[in-house]
Amino acid sequence: MKGSTKFCPECGINLNNLSKETSNQNKVEAESANSVFETEEPVIQKTTRDLGTRLEESVERIFKDRGYQTTRGQKIRGQSGQYNEIDVVAKRGSILLAIECKNYTEDRKVGIKEIRDFISKLDDLNINKGLFVTSSDFSSDAAGFANNNPSSKQVDLWNGSEFMEQYKKVMLGRTDSKLSIVENSLQPRGTFDDYSILTLKNKDRIITRRRDLIFHPYFIVEFNLREQFKTPDRQIHTLQNSGSYFVDGLSGEILYRNDDNGNASYDLDSMEKQIVKDLIDLSPTTIEVRHEPNSSVSKLDPSLNKKDIEFRVKTTIVNENTKIIPYEVKVSRERTDVKKFRHSPNINAITTRSRMIYVPKMEIEFESKANDYSRIILPASDVIMKDDIADCRHKLGLEKRHTFAVCEVCGMAKCEKDILVDDKDVCYCKDHAPTELKEAAKGESLADKFKRFRFGK
Ligand SMILES: [Zn+2]
Ligand SMILES: [Zn+2]
Repeated sequence: MKGSTKFCPECGINLNNLSKETSNQNKVEAESANSVFETEEPVIQKTTRDLGTRLEESVERIFKDRGYQTTRGQKIRGQSGQYNEIDVVAKRGSILLAIECKNYTEDRKVGIKEIRDFISKLDDLNINKGLFVTSSDFSSDAAGFANNNPSSKQVDLWNGSEFMEQYKKVMLGRTDSKLSIVENSLQPRGTFDDYSILTLKNKDRIITRRRDLIFHPYFIVEFNLREQFKTPDRQIHTLQNSGSYFVDGLSGEILYRNDDNGNASYDLDSMEKQIVKDLIDLSPTTIEVRHEPNSSVSKLDPSLNKKDIEFRVKTTIVNENTKIIPYEVKVSRERTDVKKFRHSPNINAITTRSRMIYVPKMEIEFESKANDYSRIILPASDVIMKDDIADCRHKLGLEKRHTFAVCEVCGMAKCEKDILVDDKDVCYCKDHAPTELKEAAKGESLADKFKRFRFGK
């Protein structure tokens, strides 16, 4: 350790890069637990509008870090003649991305209408790729519609947790240590190289732009609840329950519960489902991280501290263990009424013990001409959660097909049916193939067949 550079003895992360973030983060934590994604500057007043603007700023920052040029609040005239406002427009070379930001409170989800409106905007502006970012979450309808929309637009979604992940990673800066250790992490099964493999015919036309390994914090909060209470008829009851809650350490969202009453998931997307499964099935260990060329490794601190996480869990336990208990009241000598008593456990009757576990997540970004593709892997269970370059984008209703090659003009990855290959082995999509090649692929035209039929040889 030399000069002024400080490295955390635990993980090797440069503390100079971190200090700015953590000191302000503490301020924000002290102010309010709601403003989880604001880690940069102290916030004076946090109206929804302020936060909305800051969400856009933060998103802009993430894309600048990825080499994009960005513009905020740009009004662009569409094919309809109407002007559409795009929260953030990100451009890199010939890649164009329209980003919509919705700053909602935790309990309000982005619905199908907002996604539909965004896709019509993309349609009107003739932009092929969009990203929808929210500080909260997406309804499952909204997510389904984004994945399989009638315009076959590529619409990526970032919920609060994913946004935080990206933002924190940028704030942390690129780690430059050669080797670092992460304690209490699930073990990745493969390396960057294992997950960067492409099988397309002209894979030399594809650049691997970015490879990130992120250690995302989760909490497992074990609890015990035991309490005795009396109903108004002086009957003594015992309330007892124990189990554990799984919480996302970045968003503070409760993902899963397992207690004496059974288990329950809290509206999870496919990635969260897999993460919960991995947290149940796999055990954490201390892992060594190798920094490979053209890659970055980030270990993210939780946004909420252990105390706040446990408080959230306890509040949820109180709600979920609130019971209505019938009891009898003697009204007269002959008659008894059944009344209802509502009992909520005392929060102090709950004891908790929590541990933090890191789940590794890998993101690889490929680029070819005007198109970029992301691949997201959960290496602890070896599952590929998203792979934009794997399937040809077809209109709704057409079956998905594996991609065969990228068009060497536009970079679009297409299936074998949609790619034309010339005699020099150059691949084209149907929009960009030279006319002769298209003609040759069509074979004999109908007119030619007709002529032959009529006049013979
Ligand atoms: Zn093309
Ligand atoms: Zn196709």
